Amino acid sequence: MTVENSSAKHSFALAQQRNDVSLTRYSGRFAPSPTGPLHFGSLITAVASYCDAKAHQGSWLVRIEDTDIPRIYPDSEAHILRAIDAFQFEADDTIIFQKDRLDLYESVLHQLQQDHLVYACQCTRKMLGSNHIYTGTCRELNLPFDQHAIRLKVSDQEICFDDRLQGTHCSNLQRDLGDFVLKRRDGIINYQLAVVIDDYLQGMTHVVRGADLLDNTERQIWLGSVLGYPQLEYMHLPLAMNDQGQKLSKQNLAQALDLNRASELLQHAIRALHQPEVDLDTPKNMLIQAIAQWDIQSIPHSLQLDGTYL
Ligand code: GLU
Repeated sequence: MTVENSSAKHSFALAQQRNDVSLTRYSGRFAPSPTGPLHFGSLITAVASYCDAKAHQGSWLVRIEDTDIPRIYPDSEAHILRAIDAFQFEADDTIIFQKDRLDLYESVLHQLQQDHLVYACQCTRKMLGSNHIYTGTCRELNLPFDQHAIRLKVSDQEICFDDRLQGTHCSNLQRDLGDFVLKRRDGIINYQLAVVIDDYLQGMTHVVRGADLLDNTERQIWLGSVLGYPQLEYMHLPLAMNDQGQKLSKQNLAQALDLNRASELLQHAIRALHQPEVDLDTPKNMLIQAIAQWDIQSIPHSLQLDGTYL
């Protein structure tokens, strides 16, 4: 999908800040939010994104997605960094923190504003009604940008992508969601905006993440196309469930990864991805073996993993 506008042209200026990577080379990332310590589901994502990047002779970066300050959980940032070390993942560049990049996101928002691609909105969640589809009530109101949420205009067209595991996935954003928020009324930059800008600036080519984010992808493709960014390849992994059949998540109080049991947990994560067995060893050697044996065809092409793997 290509869209012509000056926001797309503005991207050329931003491109100068882009990582110096060859765009034909695979570049992947692990982008946890520090809203709780890493759990087994996060480990599966880290392992899959790492092995997939390395099996393609690509690079792998870590980005801490910490724009949502009120949701940051004390010490979880430190736990994430300790986990990266304990599991002996080797990032190919310095770890970046989104909270240090707010000016960058604001500059892209400003450009979108100049192009009338976004607008200020005073509607509360309650006003949207039960189906949460936004019908564009504030589109023509010309409200001031300060103190209001900022929404991106979407159009009435089908957006589809071919997920490497989940197959073709489509959405018509206008029908299914409506114009969506890039910046909240409380000034917090939304995940959708920060993720799209950083994937572009970090030169990402591939996204490997949990299937809970599948439904966000069309929004990100749309925003990326409005900004003139190249489209990424996506792979959404089946989610690990707890024994009550809920997905492992910080909200469901999934257990924090025990960093003293890194090798054992790594073996479980590799099994959960239905990869060939790896021998218990240092995490570094286990990852080398997992990369050599990496086979995405063996990963279940489903939204959830069956069974529990801990
Ligand atoms: N920060 C998001 C999370 O922890 C992941 C974002 C992504 O991989 O696109 O759920």
